Amino acid sequence: MAGETTTSAADRTFGVTTGTALRCRGWRQEGLLRLLENVLAVGEAPERLVVYAALGKAARDWPSHDRIVETLKTMKEGETLLVQSGKPIGLLATHPRAPLVIMANCNLVGQWARAEVFYELERRNLICWGGLTAGDWQYIGSQGVIQGTYEIFARIAERHFGGDLAGRFVLTAGLGGMGGAQPLAGRMANAAILCVEVDEARIARRLETGYLEVRARDLDDALALVRAAQAERRPCSVGLPGNAADVYPAILARGVFPDVVTDQTSAHDLLYGYVPSGCSVEEARALRTADPQRLMAAGRQSIVAHVRAMLGFMRAGAVVFDNGNLIRTQAKQGGVDDAFDIPIFSEAFLRPLFCRGIGPFRWVALSGDPADIAHIDDLVLERFPANRVAADWIRKARAQVPFQGLPARIAWLGHGERTELGLAVNEMVRQRRLAAPVAFTRDHLDAGAMAHPNIMTERMRDGSDAVADWPLINAMVNCASMADLVAIHSGGGGYAGYMTSAGVTLVADGSAAADGRLRLSLTNDTATGVMRYADAGYEEALDEARRKGVRHFRL
Ligand code: NAD
Repeated sequence: MAGETTTSAADRTFGVTTGTALRCRGWRQEGLLRLLENVLAVGEAPERLVVYAALGKAARDWPSHDRIVETLKTMKEGETLLVQSGKPIGLLATHPRAPLVIMANCNLVGQWARAEVFYELERRNLICWGGLTAGDWQYIGSQGVIQGTYEIFARIAERHFGGDLAGRFVLTAGLGGMGGAQPLAGRMANAAILCVEVDEARIARRLETGYLEVRARDLDDALALVRAAQAERRPCSVGLPGNAADVYPAILARGVFPDVVTDQTSAHDLLYGYVPSGCSVEEARALRTADPQRLMAAGRQSIVAHVRAMLGFMRAGAVVFDNGNLIRTQAKQGGVDDAFDIPIFSEAFLRPLFCRGIGPFRWVALSGDPADIAHIDDLVLERFPANRVAADWIRKARAQVPFQGLPARIAWLGHGERTELGLAVNEMVRQRRLAAPVAFTRDHLDAGAMAHPNIMTERMRDGSDAVADWPLINAMVNCASMADLVAIHSGGGGYAGYMTSAGVTLVADGSAAADGRLRLSLTNDTATGVMRYADAGYEEALDEARRKGVRHFRL
């Protein structure tokens, strides 16, 4: 399959260029090129162009990748590169205020947006899935999702455990690109967190990067480590080799009840992601081509056992939630009728923040110099002391979150705050207080940028869960607002037909033109988010619109 065998990656190395020397005609192009290099450098399987989420790719294939690189190196201001599902399709003459790159990745017409159609098109190399942040070169490793994961744990602590997870047992699975953030986020929230992972190599990688503390020998060892940490109210993260579809039921059968349970295996993709019980990672890989139907049927059966155990924990009083991997949907299709009794994290814990346009904003030091991030950390603390979510996070993150690839930081900033920070950083670049320009971007899972009825927009107050106009409007608004890169993505693999989202990137190169781009794009991006929730009738969004002068029409 195309996801397996792209043309040769032999002799390629996956580093990032740092420093101040330009290979392109300007920092806007150079910034985007460094971001493309970065998603591969911190990605899960760069030799296959796979960045994260089992099959989220940076480019369609190596010839596409190489042509994108060559184009970024040679294109001028006033030109716009078009990318269709990871393949560069041409260069247009536009104008210096237009985006440099416009992308549409993995968008299928409604009735065709199904996993089997996607796999067939992928096999014929006509499409590829960009994940959310892989295909548009915004991924920054596990650190990109870590504040989201931490915020969920923090909200659970507030709502259910008197504000602290100290002495609490969190059970989860999946230590991949995104799931790898869980052990560190759990530890930062003071919990004792157990992460089940079927692939030893992923456990080793998280240990190496400092995201995970210890690897348990077996379940007895794992539970003993967790119990000891709980007794001492000591934060701790334990990785356990094993299959979640076996380990969750085994823990339940022992009558051990965690306080919080979730999962971040790649359950959304039965072909490239989820490994069925009784199968090694290598066996699952071999079955992908030898007998894909058998692999997918076995995966679904395992997910049924996995989710039944999650429901068992929930009935016993644990706080259980779906962490955005479609596991409930897969289980329901396998016959677990009550799978959706498990709530989704976004509705349960994050929607009040999204209503105010607060979401996973991030910035990347294109210099490669960690001191640039430290200066911006100081700036955030100085400018937004009243934003407790961001200020607490920055203090914790600078002490505990290791950088991966280009130094980067994520902070959940809201409407107006992002613009203020972007302009202040651009001023620092202009005054040479930073070593080089800085790129600003955000996750697609942001207020105005995603329609995903089983994750982001589940149970919207007005029933508008499946309306995908919002991310499309968001992307067009970002083009109209002069962003440097704008992308529209839809789901691939098991996510086919489940979602549409938009991504945006800006390069603060210290120029007056960048001031204009940052002012318009960062402001209008979150404004569409506030409008989306105000339109659905959320009081917090209506209040935010009133307070911040977002001109939303109430009809
Ligand atoms: P990934 O493919 O990099 O990692 C998935 C991990 O799960 C792998 O390490 C794999 O070995 C492991 N795994 C697979 N089957 C298993 C099983 N049965 N038992 C134990 N481990 C198993 O994916 P990722 O980037 O970490 O993303 C994980 C999931 O989270 C995806 O479905 C992704 O779409 C979703 N996601 C959610 C959010 C969010 O905001 N909540 C963000 C990004 C991704």
